[in-house]
Amino acid sequence: MGNPVGFLKYTRELPAKRPVSERLKDYREFVMPYADQKLNQQAGRCMNCGVPFCHNGCPLGNLIPEFNDAVYQQRWRQAYELLSATNNFPEFTGRICPAPCESACVLGINQPAIAIEEIEKHIIEFAFANGYVQPQIPTIRSGQQVAVIGSGPAGLAAAAQLNYAGHVVTVFEKSDAPGGLLRYGIPDFKLEKWVVDRRIKLLEEEGVVFMCNVEVGRDVDILEIFNTYDAVIFAGGAAVPRDLAVPGRMLKGVHFAMDYLTQQNKRIAGNHFNEADILASNKNVVVIGGGDTGSDCVGTANRQGAAHVTQFELMSMPPTSRTPQMPWPVYPMILKTTSSHEEGAERHWAIATKAFIGNEDGELIALRVVDLVWKSTDNGKPTQYEEIAGSEREIPCDLALLAMGFISPDRKGIIDTLELKLDERGNVWTSDVSYQTSVPGLFTAGDMRRGQSLVVWAINEGRECAQKVDAYLAEKIKQTVTDFKMSKNGIT
Ligand SMILES: Cc1cc2nc3c(=O)[nH]c(=O)nc-3n(C[C@H](O)[C@H](O)[C@H](O)COP(=O)(O)OP(=O)(O)OC[C@H]3O[C@@H](n4cnc5c(N)ncnc54)[C@H](O)[C@@H]3O)c2cc1C
Ligand code: SF4
Repeated sequence: MGNPVGFLKYTRELPAKRPVSERLKDYREFVMPYADQKLNQQAGRCMNCGVPFCHNGCPLGNLIPEFNDAVYQQRWRQAYELLSATNNFPEFTGRICPAPCESACVLGINQPAIAIEEIEKHIIEFAFANGYVQPQIPTIRSGQQVAVIGSGPAGLAAAAQLNYAGHVVTVFEKSDAPGGLLRYGIPDFKLEKWVVDRRIKLLEEEGVVFMCNVEVGRDVDILEIFNTYDAVIFAGGAAVPRDLAVPGRMLKGVHFAMDYLTQQNKRIAGNHFNEADILASNKNVVVIGGGDTGSDCVGTANRQGAAHVTQFELMSMPPTSRTPQMPWPVYPMILKTTSSHEEGAERHWAIATKAFIGNEDGELIALRVVDLVWKSTDNGKPTQYEEIAGSEREIPCDLALLAMGFISPDRKGIIDTLELKLDERGNVWTSDVSYQTSVPGLFTAGDMRRGQSLVVWAINEGRECAQKVDAYLAEKIKQTVTDFKMSKNGIT
């Protein structure tokens, strides 16, 4: 434990952000680094708990007290080695993870939690800046070929781990560049794309091959992939968005959030897209859906110069702090005010959209909405809602963005062709912890398996899936050797 009284002397402090008026002029990251002394104080707050619940809260099992101590002692190489032992991409999680580790931090019982996520980001950026992060090229190759379909964080983590294990890995990606939602989904102001490019370059130097603009199941037959590779991982995400089937849905000006966000990523990257521009400039924007995707739309719309941004959520406003139903260390479902909300948005809870209203040219001009009242069970769980009589009204709107979550993976292509078994939520089924689908030799991980989730879970799934694939390949090699010996000895 670095500083035994750190948590008594210092409170949690996050790094400064660029002022709203300034950061709205661009799409650059706006969280500044800590000054050296501040970082030292923040790392020194860690109590090195006997039972570090932070470690348990992190899906990757990151060695948090150990790296906090190493940062406090300024043993940077050790901090980097500890961090990278469990996390392939701390530069992503250090920027965009909702940090379940911090919700589980023991200090959080009666004080603000340790700023773990920021410390993680500082370690990895220090490591890159000081040349600690070097390609790790395996010295021996197994001769086994693995295809990874999908280059989101799950596919990338699986590819990295299998490459370290000595297998030859090819990643197929239907978009024009690798990264999945890290590249085309999450806004640049949360994660600038040079951060993704830097990691992809490193993976390439380590031996991973990327084949972009290739949709397996359309451009290449999945059966051809099976014939060429010894194992296949399908980490294709869960991209089918939830729709809002109310009158006027087809009016000009009603779009899925992902179409809007992806376009802006492409615009910033200078990449071409065929669809007509969806822009919020000078418009009354309503984002339907109160979650993180919705918040990303708010931040993007404000940067595009929207006249007014409103965000709707169907559920009631959550509590502002933990309740008896969500005690420490469970992840609390409390009111979240993101940096995008700080930049300006009118937020409404317990509101439903009943219709999109258009003009004679078929353009959206307003939403018909109604307020709701929710009924809850004794433990506070909302069960059903009723509309509040007389609350129906129209809200001016010329751009509505549907950000109501994602239903499932897209079945068209591989899932339908191979008739993959799905679970009750429509995600790709795997037998318990095997990560293997109903088709032997085909594995899956990330959102495609668990439904739309988080980057940290995708990395965790990619790593675990890689372990299963490695074991599967080892078994396959063993079987080949046994068959060879038997045939040599004339045993059939
Ligand atoms: C707008 C938005 C913001 C988010 N913000 C955050 C955040 O701040 N923090 C956080 O932790 N999580 C966030 N998430 C969730 C997070 O991005 C996902 O949980 C994570 O990216 C899932 O990783 P994945 O690898 O499973 O899938 P994805 O990232 O979806 O990647 C799947 C990839 O597979 C490719 N693919 C699919 N089918 C094929 C095929 N047949 N052939 C070739 N390629 C194929 C797709 O093109 C895609 O690139 C956000 C999600 C969205 C939508
Ligand atoms: S739970 Fe919090 S205080 Fe305890 S070891 Fe983890 S980060 Fe440090």
